[in-house]
Amino acid sequence: MATKKIERVIAPAGVHFVGDGFRVHNIIPGSQGLSMQRMSPFIMMDYNSPFYFAPREVPRGVGVHPHRGFETVTIAYKGKVEHHDSSGGGGVIEEGDVQWMTAASGVLHKEFHEKEWSRKGGEFQMVQLWVNLPAKDKMSKPKYQAIQNRAINKVMLPEHEGVVEVIAGEYQGTKGSASTFTPMHLLNVILKNNGKADFHFPAHFNTAILVLEGNISIDGTNVPVNNFALFENVGENFSIHASADSIILVLSGEPINEPIAAHGPFVMNTKQELIEAFQDFNEGKFGYLED
Ligand code: MN
Repeated sequence: MATKKIERVIAPAGVHFVGDGFRVHNIIPGSQGLSMQRMSPFIMMDYNSPFYFAPREVPRGVGVHPHRGFETVTIAYKGKVEHHDSSGGGGVIEEGDVQWMTAASGVLHKEFHEKEWSRKGGEFQMVQLWVNLPAKDKMSKPKYQAIQNRAINKVMLPEHEGVVEVIAGEYQGTKGSASTFTPMHLLNVILKNNGKADFHFPAHFNTAILVLEGNISIDGTNVPVNNFALFENVGENFSIHASADSIILVLSGEPINEPIAAHGPFVMNTKQELIEAFQDFNEGKFGYLED
């Protein structure tokens, strides 16, 4: 089995606000020429690196908006988010939890800091991924998976070097908690200083890591905190070596080799389907959700 090499390390781009509650670096597609296809099925990644929000009585966030054609996956590292959607899904995503929302044929949702958390304020750190759906599933029924941290299967690494939380897919035979439409692995890796973890993915899977805390290296290449490393689609194996207590999000997925037509909150295969998405939204076919 051959070694998988890093193709490029991408430093975090400038920040922008999504609504008033999420201060994010857009990493996929980002400003550095990474196409939506390059990391398919992971077509969008926003990273809210640690940011302090002052206490506020009225929670910050993003008001009611639609999605169609994909899934939104929110991984909470610090802070709490309250979510509601028009298919009846809802709840609070707490630290360590993952929310996997399948918008598919269409939902309206809203995402705000949880009320009590907002009152106290604090440090906020979160990842939001958009996971594409294959054409045959884009118009399937919306679905909501609230995955609490205690329900996430964990693999303890030897000699107390760390732990791998298997959000989706599998790691060393341990299955992930989320169900997915296409093959993918999504792992949250917590390593102690000097800890090491080994990974093995099919060569053609699009694979990358995001360093959320600490400092790591892969095959001698340093990947500093907040940086994203994209792998070549050659080779299967790599190891992450931590040179500080570190947290790393590892993504690897089979590319969905279909055309992408994306505009705002809709990700379809053709321009015609985008036009239909806007029409359906304007005609109220995404249901109703109170502001
Ligand atoms: Mn959204």
